Amino acid sequence: MKDIEKKPTFLENVDMMVNDTITKINIDSNIAKILKTCRSVLQVKFPVKIKNQIEIFHGWRAVHSTHRLPVKGGLRFSTNVNQEEVEALASLMTFKCAVVDVPFGGAKGGLLIDPKQYDEESLEKITKKFARELIRKGYLSPARDVPAPDMGTSQREMGWILDAYKSLRPDDINHAACVTGKSTDHGGIKGRLEATGRGVCEALKEFFRHSNELTKHSIDGTLSDQTIIIQGFGNVGINSAKALYDNGARIIGVAEREGGIFSEDGIDIYQLEKYQSEKQTILNFPNTQNVKKSIDLLSYKCDILIPAALEGVITLNNADTIQAKIICEGANGPITYRANKKLLEKKKVIIPDIYANAGGVTVSYFEWIRNTSHIRMGRLNKRYEEDRGEAIIKAIQSISDKNIPKNLIKQLVHGANEEDIIASGLEDTMRTSFQDMLENKEKYDLDSYRMSAYAVALKKIEKSYLELGI
Ligand code: NAD
Repeated sequence: MKDIEKKPTFLENVDMMVNDTITKINIDSNIAKILKTCRSVLQVKFPVKIKNQIEIFHGWRAVHSTHRLPVKGGLRFSTNVNQEEVEALASLMTFKCAVVDVPFGGAKGGLLIDPKQYDEESLEKITKKFARELIRKGYLSPARDVPAPDMGTSQREMGWILDAYKSLRPDDINHAACVTGKSTDHGGIKGRLEATGRGVCEALKEFFRHSNELTKHSIDGTLSDQTIIIQGFGNVGINSAKALYDNGARIIGVAEREGGIFSEDGIDIYQLEKYQSEKQTILNFPNTQNVKKSIDLLSYKCDILIPAALEGVITLNNADTIQAKIICEGANGPITYRANKKLLEKKKVIIPDIYANAGGVTVSYFEWIRNTSHIRMGRLNKRYEEDRGEAIIKAIQSISDKNIPKNLIKQLVHGANEEDIIASGLEDTMRTSFQDMLENKEKYDLDSYRMSAYAVALKKIEKSYLELGI
């Protein structure tokens, strides 16, 4: 396809989106200046000896805003990472944290690497060396800057980073809080792995709860009546797909690096996950047809499209071909500025990244609280709640001759454990944030959920800076 868009960079795309909202909602001009600037960027080039050869690795950590500390943001390992990309992603993190009321500033890091080219032992060495560079230069600690998994990184890398931090700062009693998205054996929290995907599902559920919004956009039915195509079958893609599948929606297409698969009848997501982990591909999954050019799947007919792989996949080149009525951004920055305009002209509903994929940072915040408070959530009150439930049941039964059904008793005496608390906190966050967005949309007469999400964030950050003094 002919490239008709002279491509603005990812950072320019984010800046233009922020600017549009700033001009609509009257933000203090000094604060606007601050928010258009990335506070600091650390660039490191460090040697690692791999199989007797020295290799030089190139990494960055960008800190966008320090109005709240620590700053928070993922660490990605990819061959496309560059300084502009991490600055753009750090800026998105500042706004994302504000949208969902997570009291952190925004940051992002990246290492220029193709992780698939290295064995586990080498990757551990590289990750720990990168972590030590960040720690020594003040870009990684529980109080200042806390990374999390992102593209190309997972629980495993977070564990290695924690180990590097512990060995350099053994006296820091809060060491477990230097990174989130760790395994539960090392201070991670149940539900963090799935949090971003579950948040995407919660965002869509909340949208479908608002009948006025559905009518405005001529959308019929409930979430479970919708057909969905997802791009990216990694952490965000798989967990969005599972949560939506569990909520009865039909996933009809999945696009991955090597190609896509499609089935009008719907894809069994749990079987696909198993298949992918065995075969290392999603292609040739039973009862689906392969789609040779993965990007083409984004233009197939469906109700909801979830780009959950990488930025800049919907551009002026393909915006016109998108048939989905709703686009829910699981990835960061999947729609370029100009494509966003075009899609809005075509009356598409865009549920923006800084809200839709904020479930991850929300649960990361819960994990950080767990680590700094040194106690598992629910540990103190679970048994107490259960005893209380049992006492209430006994009291009711002693004054009535009716038997309470067993499943209701089970529900009533269940004390909330960590998973219950996290799920409830995530759901509540996604619901209240969407309601804030709707209020701002109306208040400032904004034409998209993206603008209303930025409005929520900008107003909160403006207040924070003005109260602290610039
Ligand atoms: P991941 O590495 O686990 O998964 C990304 C998937 O996308 C991989 O399976 C990869 O093969 C696939 N992919 C890469 N290029 C592709 C292409 N051109 N076409 C189709 N598929 C392609 O990463 P992730 O953590 O799931 O992150 C995905 C996106 O979500 C990123 O934009 C990331 O910044 C964003 N995000 C992640 C989190 C999180 O908690 N992990 C939180 C918020 C936002």
